[in-house]
Amino acid sequence: MPQDDRTAPRPARRDTLRFLTATGAALAAAPLARAQTAPATPATPAAASGAMAMNGSGFYRQKIGDMTLTTVSDGTAALAAVLPTWGANPDRQAEFAATLAEYSVAATNTVNHFNPVLLEIGGKRILIDTGRGGANGQLVANLRRAGIEPDTISVVFITHGHGDHIGGLTTNGKPTFANAQHMINEAEFNFWVTQANPNDAVKNNLIGLKDKFKLLKSGEEIVPGVLTVATPGHTANHHSVLAQSGGQSALILGDAGGHFLISLKHEGAYVGFDTDGAQAARTRQEIFARITDGKLWVSGYHFPFPAIGHMRRLAPGSFEYEPTLWNWS
Ligand SMILES: [Zn+2]
Repeated sequence: MPQDDRTAPRPARRDTLRFLTATGAALAAAPLARAQTAPATPATPAAASGAMAMNGSGFYRQKIGDMTLTTVSDGTAALAAVLPTWGANPDRQAEFAATLAEYSVAATNTVNHFNPVLLEIGGKRILIDTGRGGANGQLVANLRRAGIEPDTISVVFITHGHGDHIGGLTTNGKPTFANAQHMINEAEFNFWVTQANPNDAVKNNLIGLKDKFKLLKSGEEIVPGVLTVATPGHTANHHSVLAQSGGQSALILGDAGGHFLISLKHEGAYVGFDTDGAQAARTRQEIFARITDGKLWVSGYHFPFPAIGHMRRLAPGSFEYEPTLWNWS
């Protein structure tokens, strides 16, 4: 979820058209945070007995072809109400509320999820987005639970410059992933680092690390088999990641996916933090069709943990997320 972009200027229409075209071209070619979530009074016998209060261990591995995709939770944050943030169209609030009710998804007193993705492919470890960092960030703790030390990450790719995606790049002013090649789309990087008054997350994690970044063109390869895909709208130069191995593919959406239910089911729905809501909604239609038609694996950064699964088409322009069935290996 974007945190610091309320003052971000909207991109010029010419730019959004340019990036939409780039999107089409690229697509054609191609312990959970106990402290934040535990109630003050233990609600379950397990919590009362001192056992882990939450299910899972903060990471989830999925073999895809010859690569391993691991979603690694950065924890959760309290969310008082899903609407209007996650379905922001003012004239469609009743429609979105009805969908939450239909699917028995809590509309109030719930949480936001933050799910960076680790790809292990061709002997490299590629981390996509880094969570919030600071006191709330659980990414490094959960990477260690998965047996991954931060200094073994080969590449860190950033989908876009919002604080909940870049905040974990530094720890106490030092690079968290000291040996990693840092990568981001060139236009996305330049947009953030040239702000007149950059926010602290941008100052600390983008401007402060500018010498570590390799700036990528749209569609450029991160490592063999792993490409960036222009998915504009949430930010003007947002990029997702397409990973291919052994005849299978996964699209790691970042925030191009929006909300796992409302953004998929309702064509034209946009998220409150989308820089250009109409553009974001058009991009979602394109990528959801691509994911559905190609039977791709998909991961959405703010989808509920473990945030990995597939999609299916309900009707023209309307899609549904299919969370993977839990496996233990
Ligand atoms: Zn986000």
